[in-house]
Amino acid sequence: MSNIQYEYVDESLIDENYKCIICKEPLINPTVTPCDHTYCQKCIEHWLNEGYSACPSCRHILSMNDLKPVSTRLILNILDRLIVKCSQCGQNGIQRGNFNDHLTKLCPKGTIFCSAFDIKCPWSGPREQLENHLNTCNYEKLRSVLTHLVNKNRQLEEQIHTLTNQVQTLQSIVQSPTRHLITFDKLFEIEKRTDSGILSELYEGLIWNNVWYMHEQWVRTNHALSGWKNAYTNGHICVAFNGKGSSMSICSRRKEIDTFSLVSFEATAAWLDNLHINIIGRRLKQELYSKTIVLQFDNSQIFYFDWKNIDELQFIPVSGKEHPGIPYTDKYFAITWILLG
Ligand SMILES: [Zn+2]
Ligand SMILES: [Zn+2]
Ligand SMILES: [Zn+2]
Ligand SMILES: [Zn+2]
Repeated sequence: MSNIQYEYVDESLIDENYKCIICKEPLINPTVTPCDHTYCQKCIEHWLNEGYSACPSCRHILSMNDLKPVSTRLILNILDRLIVKCSQCGQNGIQRGNFNDHLTKLCPKGTIFCSAFDIKCPWSGPREQLENHLNTCNYEKLRSVLTHLVNKNRQLEEQIHTLTNQVQTLQSIVQSPTRHLITFDKLFEIEKRTDSGILSELYEGLIWNNVWYMHEQWVRTNHALSGWKNAYTNGHICVAFNGKGSSMSICSRRKEIDTFSLVSFEATAAWLDNLHINIIGRRLKQELYSKTIVLQFDNSQIFYFDWKNIDELQFIPVSGKEHPGIPYTDKYFAITWILLG
């Protein structure tokens, strides 16, 4: 196939064996027939597509499936080393095999995009005009602002994605009448105390092992600088926590009969940053689910689950990092509320 992007230097000196008899030019993507005639891939495919069904050289019956690309390195190398001249910029002495590189990386007439393409400059033109364009390119001038906006936009999209997921979870929570939201605020009225104590064993019809409660007033008086205070979100005045900073669990009352699902809960680390908690969901002592969550000192977080048919939920604090300025390393964490199904 003739090529408008380059022309051959000394075409008459090129051996006829390396030329295609259809286009009379040096072979491009040489393709061989079973009758051992070689053509440019495009030329012979075009020939067959036109309705011919025989080899143009010897009239041997031929179909598309008979064609095979030439893979002989020797021939391909000879073709790659043919010397061409770029029709666009006039540069001479380019090996044909390197011409594409010339066009895409070097040719001053080659078409390229603006260097501000990543921040949406629509300019494209000859490489030699890029410098001129850049002198007036508003996108490149505003690069720092635009980069900031593009990144900001990406962050917002991610946030929207996260929030959409949360809304969907919350919608499913609201729509399900069997959901059971457990808070610890009313312990204040039950116990008539504003301190800390062990959760009564059948609170809300469940069995609580090593689960304690702590009133906000107690935290304000005794642990004012702790992460505890960040657990009392949205007007909550009492939270649950793991006694002695060790493992705690919640079980159904009649293990063989009653099961529940874990939907979500809100939790905060009391003294450590990056407090890792392993959470395990079991049914008849068999582990069905497990997940590690990471709690923070500075803010509470809501975690979502879809753990169905369990009768025991265990929280095992594993490790954390000392919070700057806080010498305590106890692995206490607070649960503000927990939603079971
Ligand atoms: Zn050809
Ligand atoms: Zn033939
Ligand atoms: Zn060129
Ligand atoms: Zn530009």
